[in-house]
This record gives sequence, C-alpha cells and structure tokens, in this order.
Amino acid sequence: MTREKIKQITVLSGKGGTGKTTISAVLAQLSSPISLMADCDVDAPNLHLLMDPTDSSSERFLSGKIAIKDSELCTKCGKCLKVCRFDAINTDFEIDSMHCEGCGACAWICPESAITMEIQPSGTIYEAKTRFGPMVHALLDVGAENSGKLVSEVIQKSQELAQHEEKKVIIVDGSPGIGCPVIAALTNADLVIIVVEPTMTAIHDMKRVIELTQFFKIQPAVIINKATINEEQRVSIVDFCKNESIPIVGELSYNLAIYKAMVNGETILEYGIQELEGSLNQLWKNISELLQ
Ligand code: SF4
Ligand code: SF4
Repeated sequence: MTREKIKQITVLSGKGGTGKTTISAVLAQLSSPISLMADCDVDAPNLHLLMDPTDSSSERFLSGKIAIKDSELCTKCGKCLKVCRFDAINTDFEIDSMHCEGCGACAWICPESAITMEIQPSGTIYEAKTRFGPMVHALLDVGAENSGKLVSEVIQKSQELAQHEEKKVIIVDGSPGIGCPVIAALTNADLVIIVVEPTMTAIHDMKRVIELTQFFKIQPAVIINKATINEEQRVSIVDFCKNESIPIVGELSYNLAIYKAMVNGETILEYGIQELEGSLNQLWKNISELLQ
C-alpha cells in the first residue's frame, strides 16, 4: 500500500515582525493532532516560546570543514598565507576559524602536512513534545554560518518524525527574507503561506516571496495580518492577489491582545480573542481546501 504524502505548509513573511510565528503557532493548534511543527528560523527561533517544548532530545549538527594547524609541524614557510583567498590566515600563519571557508587550499599546499581539514559542529537540533504535537527545532551556534544546511536538516528530521508518528501535515515556521534558509525551508513544501501586513515595505517583501514560490512552482497563499491598520494598503494587497490569482486564506484585524497572548506564552486562539475566533476557524478550513 502506498503511503499518503505528508503535506507541508511553509509559513513565510519576507519581512520580520509581521506575525509569522504567531500564525504558525495558531496553525499548529488548528491542525492538531494530525500535525507536527518545524521551526526553521534557526538564526532567531522563537516558536518554542509559544510552544513550551518538553522532553527534548538533541544532537549536534555537523556542517562544513575548517582548517586546523598543528603549530609544532609548521616551519613558517608562508605558503598557506599566499594561497588563502579568504584572508583567514594572518602574517604569523595562524588560522582564524571565523573566516575560514573550508576550501582546503592551505592543507593541500602545506609542505609539512601541518594543516588538516576538520568537520565542525555549527548548531544543535532538538526533537520535542508540545501540547499540540511533536516539534523539531534548531539553533545555530553563535557566529556559525550554514543556516541553510541546518534548515535542510530540520526539514529532513521533520519528515522522518512525521512519518514515524503518522502525522499528515507539517507546519514549517520559516525565516524572514528570501535568502538561503528560506529556500531550504521550501524543500518539500506543498503550500506557502505568506503573512503580510498592510504596509508598503511588507507588500514589497510579500511580492519577492511570491516570485520565489513561482520560481519553485509551489502554490502560494496570503494571510493579511493587522488588516485594519491601513485600509488603502489592505485593498492594494487584495487587488494584487486577485490579479495574480493568489488566494487570501485569512484576514486578521489588529488587536493588542495578540501581544498579551505572546507574553502569556499562548496562541491567539488559546488566549481567547473573541473578535478573531471566526477568522481563525475559517482560516484552517480555507487552507485545508487548498491542500486538497
Ligand atoms: S604552509 Fe604549512 S608550514 Fe608553511 S606556514 Fe603554512 S602551516 Fe606552516
Ligand atoms: S581552508 Fe581555505 S579558507 Fe580556510 S584557511 Fe585554508 S585556504 Fe583559507
């Protein structure tokens, strides 16, 4: 018997501060118990603040290699300094691990075999339980790069855990922007939810994310958050989406209680903001229809 594909919904925003994580958390609640959460904002994760994960297991994420020098073997011939194109070796022939790009040229040229390339951990991945189901999240080490690779690992682990736990949906909280970690968070996505607020910069960023989804041929949909803060800009989002045939799956009016819910560590549905309840319940119905 062939197994039904697990549907993956990736929540993006293009710009930070639009309420992406608030929406991801409420989608996790609305889709519970058939879903699993994946926090792919590995540079600045905050979904765990709302989800309060427990029973975590963790493992270190190993990414690229960096050059390590054995000073006892070094004769200070200077060949490594000449060959390094990333200014990672100083005039004392010491290697700065923060600038080493792991190209391996210095290890290759060193006549004394004083330099070796070693794999470095650059983050930690966690699997945990929450009141709405399992969650995979990660944190990049301070100063470490390769957030795209770490996001790919979170997606991979989420898929495996979702299969093991027989979940039907993965809710991915992506990073802001359109960079490498965002592209990694689009792997396997069936639907991209773009959270936008009615401001000119947020609309501009929404359009950039939409272009990305079109490039990767993934269905986009839009949620207008804080919809009541600027009617003119709200209408321009609606008109744009209509012209581009992009569904708007929900509109949430601006409500100060959303911030109180966050401070309490609750989703906006748990906090009980009456004004939003109808929109939130309709939101999951609209998304489910799109996933069909
Ligand atoms: S190439 Fe090797 S021996 Fe020469 S300075 Fe660099 S580490 Fe030392
Ligand atoms: S591995 Fe490449 S980037 Fe790193 S120190 Fe050696 S030459 Fe420079």
